Amino acid sequence: MESLHPLNLDFREHLFRRYAQDGRKQRFPGETREEFEAWQVDARGVLEETLRMPEVSGDLELEREPVDSSMLSWEGGRYEGFTLERIRYQSMHGVRVPAFLLIPDKLDHQAPAILCPPGHGRGMNQVLFEKGIYKQYPMELARRGFVTLVPEHVGFGERNPGHLGEHAYYTGVSQLLGYTEYGVYIRELMRAIDVLSSIDEVDADRIGCYGLSLGGVTTLLISALDLRIKAAGISGFFTSFRSTFLDMAHCVCGNVQDLALQFEHVDIAALIAPRPIVLENGRADPQFPSDQSIESAAELRRYFALYGEEERLLHDVFDGAHEISGSQAYDAFERWL
Ligand SMILES: [Zn+2]
Repeated sequence: MESLHPLNLDFREHLFRRYAQDGRKQRFPGETREEFEAWQVDARGVLEETLRMPEVSGDLELEREPVDSSMLSWEGGRYEGFTLERIRYQSMHGVRVPAFLLIPDKLDHQAPAILCPPGHGRGMNQVLFEKGIYKQYPMELARRGFVTLVPEHVGFGERNPGHLGEHAYYTGVSQLLGYTEYGVYIRELMRAIDVLSSIDEVDADRIGCYGLSLGGVTTLLISALDLRIKAAGISGFFTSFRSTFLDMAHCVCGNVQDLALQFEHVDIAALIAPRPIVLENGRADPQFPSDQSIESAAELRRYFALYGEEERLLHDVFDGAHEISGSQAYDAFERWL
């Protein structure tokens, strides 16, 4: 930023002042648990309104098809302990979502499940088949006995019509027609929970959500809004709008109109409490600073303290970058679900 003439920064300073004066309108203003629970109901309504989600109509129309693992090539993952299926379901009228479903071997009872929304990258195939930043975490969860579902977000991976200019096309047109792109992601993830709740292998009372980056913010939002999520793992996102999107350019799909006027990350996460949360932040993550995550987590812990349940908030600050850690999350999900 030093290279810019100060005149180029004056509007940025204006925006920071606007944030300081007008941001976080929904921050919890009270002190007691009763006030907190009443606030949650109202703030959830504001969050839902702000996201401007599409309506859902039509049945799930779930199709399941086993994948022959010998036909796949992937990096180093142990393909054992689960079976892999390719599924499709209807999210909105006429819109079908592809996803991978991992079913643990030797299920003799209904299992807990984890929804694994991908980050802002190459989609569900990257999450599952490349070692990389995701470390194939849905497979690890499946080997530990969780049914895991990895859906494709609209505009990414197998749903990216490259000739239309990647997912920026969907982001822009969604906004032209009254949605936000995050609202679209969250509505589709709600349908993914419908899928998990509907299949015989899953205990619908034990569903969690765990994701990195865009998968982290979508985990944050859907866990805040949808009480069917009983535990959340938010990796590589939880910090603050002030320290991330306001401070440096991120993809425009994250700029939900008015969101930072209404909420900070911690205010949204407060809507999950006292349901348990594990936060993951790499010390070397350049875009989601871990110092800020520690400060925000301390604020979030106060809401868990209203319930005497501070141990339900775990914060894994690890030596790593923008990546899944898992060093607390895997065990935590086993305990919580
Ligand atoms: Zn984007």
